[in-house]
Amino acid sequence: MTMTLGDRFGRSFPYLRLSVIDACNYSCTYCLPSGFRATSCRPPQLATDEIRRLLAAFALAGMRKVRITGGEPSLRRDLDEILAIAAAQPGIEKVAMTTNGCLLLRRVSAWKDAGLTHLNVSVDALERERFAAITGHDRLPDLLAGIDRALGLGFGAVKLNAVLLKGLNDDQLPAWLDYLRDRRVSLRFIELMRTGDNLEYFQRHHLRASVVEEKLRAGGWRELPRAVDAGPAREYAHPEFLGRIGIIAPYSKDFCAGCNRLRVTSTGDLRLCLFGEAGIPLRPLLQDDAQRDQLLATLGIQLGEKDAGHRLHEGETGLTSNLSTIGG
Ligand code: SAM
Repeated sequence: MTMTLGDRFGRSFPYLRLSVIDACNYSCTYCLPSGFRATSCRPPQLATDEIRRLLAAFALAGMRKVRITGGEPSLRRDLDEILAIAAAQPGIEKVAMTTNGCLLLRRVSAWKDAGLTHLNVSVDALERERFAAITGHDRLPDLLAGIDRALGLGFGAVKLNAVLLKGLNDDQLPAWLDYLRDRRVSLRFIELMRTGDNLEYFQRHHLRASVVEEKLRAGGWRELPRAVDAGPAREYAHPEFLGRIGIIAPYSKDFCAGCNRLRVTSTGDLRLCLFGEAGIPLRPLLQDDAQRDQLLATLGIQLGEKDAGHRLHEGETGLTSNLSTIGG
């Protein structure tokens, strides 16, 4: 059985974000300020055989890109095997991962050898104390060395994610510009998203991405034309800088119109939207290779339920108490 996953709004979904673990070792103030706490009745994360069946089915259904995320994906001991499984699926062209980079310096070459093609690293500040205050870990020098190593390995892309936080890192733009002048790396400023856990924090620290965009335009940065298959970022370039700056603004109009992604949690629940209410367990259909057609049929039916857009502007956060549960 082959098919293309599409919904009733004419969108297709070649991109899967798969969380492989819910635990994270960082305690970012906007996500897990008290650190990750395991609950006693927590179901086990997907095993590599379940991941293989899942990715094989999604690849048959037209998936071309998978992003491995978490929690912190590098905390999984079998991460290299997961990357190799993803890279081995016919049709999958991009194997991406989002990481806080705690093991980047030590492991990035092995991840590349295993099949990783695209890398996103979270770097919320370029000043050591500030980075430690936001993430709970004084690891910026090691992280920056890891990024420089990754830049020498020939990845399809290395992107850095920085969540915009009013009063905490909104003075970092000059430092970022210095950094981007001679590094071929794409920085993404992400607007802070409101989740079930961070309501008060959101009110204090949410900063509209348009504030940064105005500063960029004033400094001679120009928005690039959007590629047909572009992600949610509006991307800016400047002739004097090797690096680029992308803006991800989930509260902007039309953010969802270009949605091309589905999500699966570390325990195998399909999520149609990062902030959607709908999530169905796929795990029962991942127990045997012979279940593949049933799994594909279920995916097709579930997509019929996907909404046109999230309702973050209305204060709806869906099932998401924080993004560590599903990977952002
Ligand atoms: N642990 C990995 C990391 O730090 O990149 C992967 C998971 S993390 C949840 C994925 C991305 O989501 C990170 O770049 C993080 O900064 C971002 N993120 C988490 N909570 C967020 C929020 N409330 N609003 C915007 N971005 C958020």
